[in-house]
Amino acid sequence: MTAQDYPAEAYALDGQLWWTLPFYPGTKRPYGAVNKIAAWLYFNKRVGDRFTIRELREAVGTDNAPNYQEHFNRRLRELRALGWLLPSSQEDAELRTDEYRVGVKGWHPGAGPRPKFSSRISPAVQRTVFDRDGRRCVICGVASGEPYPAAPTEMAAITIGHRIPQKFGGSDDIDNLQVECQRCNEPMREEAGLPVTFDEVYAQIRRLKRAEKETMLRWMRSGRRSRSRLDVLYDQARQLSPNEKRQLTERLELATDQPSLGQES
Ligand SMILES: [Zn+2]
Repeated sequence: MTAQDYPAEAYALDGQLWWTLPFYPGTKRPYGAVNKIAAWLYFNKRVGDRFTIRELREAVGTDNAPNYQEHFNRRLRELRALGWLLPSSQEDAELRTDEYRVGVKGWHPGAGPRPKFSSRISPAVQRTVFDRDGRRCVICGVASGEPYPAAPTEMAAITIGHRIPQKFGGSDDIDNLQVECQRCNEPMREEAGLPVTFDEVYAQIRRLKRAEKETMLRWMRSGRRSRSRLDVLYDQARQLSPNEKRQLTERLELATDQPSLGQES
């Protein structure tokens, strides 16, 4: 991949790619390895791709850590707390012992400030919340690495937010935590340029079919977008290996009499 292929979010304000930054922009503080690795993985690997510690070491520059394997293992654990799912060969039998896979993409520097929960909420609690909510934003339903519904050219990063915001007294209890995407976590109504007045929204909602209104009512009452059986099955299907996905696609093509259109890219 050449430099001009990277989207704007891959660059810091000074025009350097995030993973090549020596210092935090405008300071003399060394730029952190977790940020560099998150940025490099986000913009150089697709969900499902494999990588090795050696690749990371070459991509984010040599680290003087005497035991770089352990150093990077620690960084990978920190990334898991930022929404990344990075199975190793112990969790994914198709991987070699030195390989990892990009299962789910989480936060990266181009998505805005690092979520603040990471230091306070324990990794175990974060994992529980991610697993319970299916690693999707409970508000808009987007999954990590998918395009945002409201901004289709941007890829979503997921994080953990508070149902009742902390400034209104919300706690860090599991019941008050939920998976949110970065956009829903930091509402940007004006920036997103969405129709947000009651009249504009209601004018469209009152024209919905009755079943759609019922679904909308359910979401409004529970404060979250519930997912259909089809959505849940699709979530499971996206976790299959590339081979299994191909197999599933072929079976669906047969079952629906839709001949293969041939492989893209
Ligand atoms: Zn969202």
